[in-house]
Amino acid sequence: MFFTLSNNYITVNINNQLMAKQTRGTKSSGSASQAKTGSKSAPAKNKSNGNSEGGLKQDTSLLEEFVLDAIKDIYWAEKHLLKALPKMTKAATTPQLKQAFTDHVTVTEGQVSRLEQVFELLGKKAQAKKCDAMEGLTKEAEGIIAETEKGSLTRDVALIMAAQKVEHYEIATYGGLVQIAKTMGKDDISQIFAQTLAEEKEADHLLTEIAENNINMEAEQEGDGEEEA
Ligand code: FE
Ligand code: FE
Ligand code: FE
Ligand code: ZN
Repeated sequence: MFFTLSNNYITVNINNQLMAKQTRGTKSSGSASQAKTGSKSAPAKNKSNGNSEGGLKQDTSLLEEFVLDAIKDIYWAEKHLLKALPKMTKAATTPQLKQAFTDHVTVTEGQVSRLEQVFELLGKKAQAKKCDAMEGLTKEAEGIIAETEKGSLTRDVALIMAAQKVEHYEIATYGGLVQIAKTMGKDDISQIFAQTLAEEKEADHLLTEIAENNINMEAEQEGDGEEEA
């Protein structure tokens, strides 16, 4: 919870600064401050996206470009997770954990559809762009499976940690996207991201509950007497 709040706080501040910069850019034509920022701008990259605010166009389109990239990234990430989750389900022992992973496949499929809906609302083709973070996070999960004993609760604890790292990455991503979309005045898209954000938080909480209620204590007992170092 704290993590998400602080993440959103940072995002909002960045957005405010961006907007302030954009406003300054439009209002101070010919002033010293414009000469300063004007020299840094890249007019060639500017694409008109039908935005009505004349002077805001340039920075807004750069922000839109970044957001589109971020959406392509999380689109790849969600699809990649769909391949990793069945492996994690198979590796898990505790029934509640198996069920949580299985349920998250269905949830994730819905999130993929939601992202396709966002692409459509933006008038863009749904396109995935490799997310290095999700690739690394799922690699860690696979490493855990390889390094822990089948049927052990230690493996379940490790799998929960790996899954929570995935959820936190997603929470950070969607938390940021909710705020940026809102800042850009795309409330419909912001609300779509908010739905997914709520699901990722729920998944994270569920994993915490499973760990606290079912696994951690038993895993600790399991470790007694068979520790190597
Ligand atoms: Fe997700
Ligand atoms: Fe990413
Ligand atoms: Fe790591
Ligand atoms: Zn998730």
